[in-house]
Amino acid sequence: MVGPRDWEAREPRRPGMIRRVLPTLIAFAVILGGLAYLGGDLRELLGTAPGSPISAAAQHRLYEESGPVDGRCGTLPKDLDADVTASLEALTGCLERMWAATLARADIDYEPPGEVRLVAAPEEAACGIDDYDWAGIYCPEPRVVNVLVEGEQAFPMMFTLAHEYAHHVQEVSGIADQRGSEAFDEAWSRRLELQADCLAAVSLRSAAPRGLESLRRLAGRGSGADDGVEAGYRQSHGSGASSAEWMRRGQEGGTVGSCNTWGAPAERVS
Ligand SMILES: [Zn+2]
Repeated sequence: MVGPRDWEAREPRRPGMIRRVLPTLIAFAVILGGLAYLGGDLRELLGTAPGSPISAAAQHRLYEESGPVDGRCGTLPKDLDADVTASLEALTGCLERMWAATLARADIDYEPPGEVRLVAAPEEAACGIDDYDWAGIYCPEPRVVNVLVEGEQAFPMMFTLAHEYAHHVQEVSGIADQRGSEAFDEAWSRRLELQADCLAAVSLRSAAPRGLESLRRLAGRGSGADDGVEAGYRQSHGSGASSAEWMRRGQEGGTVGSCNTWGAPAERVS
């Protein structure tokens, strides 16, 4: 006899339903659990923390693709100290050619700085900041390189110019991009500054190898001063020993890849 009861008895049971939706439920649980787990340590796991070998700055294509940095400094005067300004102007031209060619090999468009200012007093810099205790400064916003011209020896100023140009390259290439999730603290600043020292050594290695060697010795010895200003400089720029070591890497390696401070362990950028 076919009645409503028989019909009801054949109705599919609940446990069968659960078996069918269970895999979907598990998949959702795994995804939600994973997201909750990542939330706490997202920066670490995605590798954007400074010093992580898989951060964007550490994996920039410039390191692999730009190859040896070609000097292109044939226009430098023989006697660099005879006319310091002329030497700095000649070096500017050479840095321009060098970085344009190097970035082009990694398929990055190079744009020259908006301006290169060789100033007689720090107040003439384009940054509009009140800190006047510098030999050179790069202002990322208007992209201006400033170098203080003082003294009779060209090389220290040439190194400063090459260092500020390195900051410009970090800016143009996106290595110094501050839009990520990194912590832009003093450790970040040390990696940026030590990389600029290393790239400056790369760019001057064929033009002024002996100047570089004596600067490295000086940096390695430290200033001897141990006041607050010196300690602050070490915090943001790294120790003299770290600076000398990155200059050595740049001078000997001659490539942007030799200067990957972003993937280096913390003790090498102290
Ligand atoms: Zn700097």
